[in-house]
Amino acid sequence: MIVLIISLIMALAVAAEAAYCLRGAQEQNGGRQGGAAVLEESTEAVETPAPETETLPPETETETEPETFPPPVTEIDPNRPVIALTFDDGPQNANTSRLLDILRENGAHATFFVVGYALDGNEDVVRRAYEEGNEIASHTLNHPHLTSLSDAEIDQEIGGMRQRIVDITGQQTVLLRPPYGETDERVRAHITDPIILWSVDTRDWAEKDVDSIFGHIQNDIFDGAIVLMHDIHSTTIDAAEVFIPWLREQGYQMVTVSELGQYREGGLEAGVRYGALRPAETEAAEEPAEEPAEEPAA
Ligand SMILES: [Zn+2]
Repeated sequence: MIVLIISLIMALAVAAEAAYCLRGAQEQNGGRQGGAAVLEESTEAVETPAPETETLPPETETETEPETFPPPVTEIDPNRPVIALTFDDGPQNANTSRLLDILRENGAHATFFVVGYALDGNEDVVRRAYEEGNEIASHTLNHPHLTSLSDAEIDQEIGGMRQRIVDITGQQTVLLRPPYGETDERVRAHITDPIILWSVDTRDWAEKDVDSIFGHIQNDIFDGAIVLMHDIHSTTIDAAEVFIPWLREQGYQMVTVSELGQYREGGLEAGVRYGALRPAETEAAEEPAEEPAEEPAA
């Protein structure tokens, strides 16, 4: 049975490639150019032999793919702006679940900077977030002021949380957002992954008001922005019901921080602080805020 399925898949792949090559040749003759056109055509070509895939039994996929199968990668249209929504201090089961529904309904993805104490008993919602294509990242075990800790305590807060996320997702890079955005040279010497700050502060934790959160996003959003929010507040999720569809209507593509980094920089570097990832031509002298606005201790 499995051999038969593999053969079928291989046959489909060959058919798809043939269709792609044929179409590519046609396009060359037609003289169409540009990255967007190529992307569009390749997607179309792969879809060409679709009717045959119906012969595969529907349960095959769940049987053959392991649980740790990497989540889907968001396809990025180079003609539209790209942003990363980020949510700190969770998970909080009810709020995070509702947010995941909104993200899924809008074809959007987000990055969750989770804390160790909130993770206990909420592993399932984190796993769901990951499996639906969102990114799981570290906000430390206990949300301390890292700069006031001993070297051993820093290692425990960062390394301990990193390992918990690796255990759930199996991912190689675990982005870190230090609590309050605070690091210094000593703390950064303990960090083995990219450091993610933000460039749009919704002040959701302080104002707890849908209109004010939506207003901050409408006024401050830009191509390459990293947006700071907290999925432990129900008003933030109420606001997400408004601003996520709005962002989609404005053409914004909502991807994970790692996807944004891969798209704009070819990947993010360990130990480097990122507050935004603008398009190359507008990137001049972009520096993340050293001491961004205060964040709650949750
Ligand atoms: Zn926080």
